Amino acid sequence: MRRFTFRPSDMLSSLPRLAGTFPSGRFAVAVDPVMLVHGGAWAIPDDVVDAHLHGVQAAAAAGFAVLQRGGSCLDGVEAAVVAMEDDETFDAGRGSFLNMDGRVQLDACMMDGATLRAGGVGCVEHIRNPIRAAKKILTESPHVYFVGHGAERFAHQHGIELCHNDDLVLIREVDRLREAKKQGYLQMPDEFGPMRSVDTVGAVALDRDGNVAAATSTGGTLNKAPGRVGDSSLIGCGCYADNLSAAVSTTGWGEPMMKLVLSKWTADRVEQGLVPQDAAQRALYYLKSRLNGHGGIILVDCKGRVGIAHNTPRMAWALVSQAATSSGIKFET
Ligand code: ASP
Repeated sequence: MRRFTFRPSDMLSSLPRLAGTFPSGRFAVAVDPVMLVHGGAWAIPDDVVDAHLHGVQAAAAAGFAVLQRGGSCLDGVEAAVVAMEDDETFDAGRGSFLNMDGRVQLDACMMDGATLRAGGVGCVEHIRNPIRAAKKILTESPHVYFVGHGAERFAHQHGIELCHNDDLVLIREVDRLREAKKQGYLQMPDEFGPMRSVDTVGAVALDRDGNVAAATSTGGTLNKAPGRVGDSSLIGCGCYADNLSAAVSTTGWGEPMMKLVLSKWTADRVEQGLVPQDAAQRALYYLKSRLNGHGGIILVDCKGRVGIAHNTPRMAWALVSQAATSSGIKFET
C-alpha cells in the first residue's frame, strides 16, 4: 500500500456523488465508499511499528473490498475489525491484554447510522471475535447490550462458536501481566499518560448506499479489574454512528472518554456544521483540557469526509477510498 501524507482536504476535493437524505436518514443514490480504521493510539515502539501498519492496512483493505462489491457499511466494519481481532498485534480478540486474574475479557460495539440500531457486548471471555456477537445483537435482537454469560449464550444461540479463554491468551501477555504486577502497575485511569499501551481496534465506513457505521473492539486495559468495562463498547463513548452526523470510533484510556461521551460529542459537532477533521481535533482538545485524557479518534460522515486525530505520540490508522489510499503511524494535518 502506498504511503503518503494524507490531508482531509484531499477528500473534500473529491466528494462522492451525493443526493439529499430521506427522512429516515438514508441517502437516495450511490456514493463512493470509504473505509477508515485505527489500531490503537499510544507510543507504539519502533520494533512493532511494521506489525501495526500491516495490520491496519490489511484491515482497511478487507473492509473496503466488502464495500466495493456493494456490501453494507455494517459488513464492511465487521470485516475490518475481525481482521484486527484475528491479528495478535492488537489488543482485541486473541492476544489481548490480561486482566488482574490473568484472563482475557473482551468488549465490542457496532452501530448502524441509518437506523441507529446498535449492538454491544461486555466482559465476554469465550468469543474469539466479539464484534461478530455485537453485530448479531444489532441485527437480531430487540436489545442493545449484553454482558458476560448472557452475551455468550446469545452469541452461541445465534451461531457463534464459543472457545476456551486459554485459546485467547498469549504467553507474551502472561509475561506482560507478570511484569506489570511486579512493577506495581496500577489502574490510574485519570492519570493515564500517552505512553501506556492501548491497542484497541476500530473501523468506520461509508457504503455505496450512503450509510455510515462504526465498530470498536478491545481487550481493555492491562491488569484491569475483572468486570471493568471501558469506553470502547459503550454507545456514544467509544463508538457511535448516525447518518445525520458521523460514524466515530475512539481508542485510548477509556474512563475519561466515557465521562465525556466522546464519540457522540464528536458526532454532534459534525451535525452542528464542523467538518469531521475539525471535529476530531476539537474532541482531542476537549479530552485533554477537560480530563487530561489521551487517545485517538476516527470518523467519517455521509459525504465521505473523514477526521483523524490523536494526542498520543503515535496512532496506527489506514484509509481506503476511491480517492485516496493511505496509512500511517502518526497523523499530521
Ligand atoms: N479504550 C480502551 C479501554 O479503555 C483501551 C484502548 O483504547 O486501547 O478499554
